[in-house]
This record gives sequence, structure tokens and C-alpha cells, in this order.
Amino acid sequence: MANYLEIPFPRVENPFDGHIHIHKWREDGTGRLYIHGLEEYRQKCGLKYIALASLPSGNPIPVPRDVGNNIMCAFYKLANENTFAYGGFIYPSYPANAEEMKDMSLVTQLDELKEIGFDGVKMLEGKPNLYVKVGKELDGEFFENALSKMEREGTYVLMHAIDPSCFWTNASEENVKKGWYYGDTSKYPTNDALYQQVDNLLAKHPNLNLCLAHFFFCSENPEKLEEMFKKYKNLTVDITPGGEMYIGFDKRPEYFKEFFEKYKDRIIFGTDMDFTPHLESGIWLCDRVYRFCATDETLMSFDDHKIKGISLSGDAIQKIFSDNLLKKLDGKPKPINKEALKKYIKKYQHLIIDRELAAYIEELSREYL
Ligand SMILES: [Zn+2]
Repeated sequence: MANYLEIPFPRVENPFDGHIHIHKWREDGTGRLYIHGLEEYRQKCGLKYIALASLPSGNPIPVPRDVGNNIMCAFYKLANENTFAYGGFIYPSYPANAEEMKDMSLVTQLDELKEIGFDGVKMLEGKPNLYVKVGKELDGEFFENALSKMEREGTYVLMHAIDPSCFWTNASEENVKKGWYYGDTSKYPTNDALYQQVDNLLAKHPNLNLCLAHFFFCSENPEKLEEMFKKYKNLTVDITPGGEMYIGFDKRPEYFKEFFEKYKDRIIFGTDMDFTPHLESGIWLCDRVYRFCATDETLMSFDDHKIKGISLSGDAIQKIFSDNLLKKLDGKPKPINKEALKKYIKKYQHLIIDRELAAYIEELSREYL
């Protein structure tokens, strides 16, 4: 791989990667600890800000998913300025059981995350594999109070709902291993059913400050998204790859150029990069997404497809790569409340599956709290 732009975002002030994960806390091979692990990535890419989206529940591959992820995101924020974080809901068992969650209802968890200083909430509960695990409809009773509260309080919610349609038909071997193949419709909801649930949820909470990740997988049917944008004024999408999304964009370049300009206030940049950072691929992602949006170059892109940039206006670029998300998150990362984080760790540490991680969290607590 070569031929990157020297600075990945030459025309953007305060570039902001709004969608990053941490799946591990220690680097393979070197054993390097995570607490500043993404700084090199941030600096090499010339990013001013990053946002970590915690995934405390979900498929336990490659590592167990539990409350440890929320706690690590909070520590990362504490140790690195310029870092935002979205916390996630935790479930003591699956399928989720409201009875069992009396002292940790979703509303209580929202209060706890907010008190700690999380800047928003990440929901993966609409990704089909977690959806069936949690066992609750997105527009049903279980999430109702939490959604109402987030709507009322203007909480930024980054939601992954549905998945590329090919995951229902011909998923790769790698995806099958990750539990991302949904061909068995007796077990998994259809793509349409999940679209419908998200639309219903928004009909009930039209002011929800919701960002649908990965363009809501609509690059083949963006008209659906346009309808939703018209109805819901706070709705945004991110353009985090999924490479299939860019292949969809490339099928109708004129249409998407117009779409991106028209909805330049509704589109947010992110890479879906994760720790351990693979710097080359991180820089590549930043470079591809930026060049697709900002230039008219023909690029080697995802899955070896060639795509042509749509050359958006400077105004649109600045909004998509920084301003839109910064505005949603009040302009700067919220400070971490150490007492609240301490209390949270005490309450939930028994749910950390990886005991080595639990020990590291104890160590960090001694050092930082
Ligand atoms: Zn993601």
C-alpha cells in the first residue's frame, strides 16, 4: 500500500474519527498495555479527536464482551484528552431479563454512564447476532424507558442496527465464524423486520439524537434514508466502512454527490478502527474515506474495487469530518468523574469475565482514581 496523502485530512480543521473500538487491552506480541494505545494512530492520522464506542455485550470473539469495556473506555478518556467515549448497556445474563436487572435497569445504567462522564451511548443491540442474544425488540417495551430518557436528555446514541444484506444470503467463512450469518430465518429476524423496528422506534421518539452506523446499510436504497431524514430532524448516519457501502455509493456517483451535499449536516465520519491498532490499515481507512469524499480521484478501495471520489464542497467536508459530531457532543469531551467511576467499578466488577483484565483495572484504579 502506498500513495497516501501526507496528511490524511488536508482540508479539515480538527478532524474527528467518531467510531473506534477497543476489543483488547493488551497488544498481541509486544504485551504493550492499552491505556495510550490509540495515540499513535490519532497522531499519525492527524486526528484532533477520537471517540471510543464501548461494546460491553455481544459476541465473545475475539475476547469476552463485558462491563470491562465500559470501564476501559472511561480510563482511556481519563488518561487521554481529546478522547470521547460512548458507553454501552450491560446484561448480567442472556436473554435480557428486566426482573433480574432491578438494580441495574437500563435507566439506572444511563444515569451511571452519564455521571461517569460518557459523552454518549453505543447500542449494538440491533446487530442481528446480539439482537437474538438479548432477545428484545428495539421498538418494544424493554428499551422504552431508556429511549424516552435519551430522547428527553438529548443523549447522542450511536446505534448499529441491521447488517449488510449479504450476511443473510452468502456470508464469508470468516463472518460465519464471528456469528454474522443470518440465513436461518427461524432464528434471525429479516433485514426488513429490523429496518421496520428502527423506523417504529423513531416514530415513537422522533427527536432522539440517533446516529445510525454504517449509513444504516442503505447505499443500495438511499431513498429509504432520505424519507427518514425528512421525518426525523436529529437523525444522522455515519459513513464508517463496511466496504460494501462504498461500492454502493460508486454505482450512483452523481446521486450521492447531491445526497451528501444536501444532507451534509447529517453525515459523520468514522473508521471502525480498533485496538490493537494496525496503523497501516487505520491510515488507509482515513485516507480512503477522505479521498472518496474530498477528491475526484479513482481509488483502489474496499474488496479491491475501484471507486471514484465525489469531490464534495469544502463546507460539506468540514462538517462531515469534524463539525457535525463535535456539535452533537457539545464541542469537547466531558470530564471523567473519578468517584462515579470508582462506584461503578465496585458495583459491576464481578461481571468482568477476564480476571487478568480485572487485575489491570484494579491497577489503573490505584494509579488514576
Ligand atoms: Zn463499530
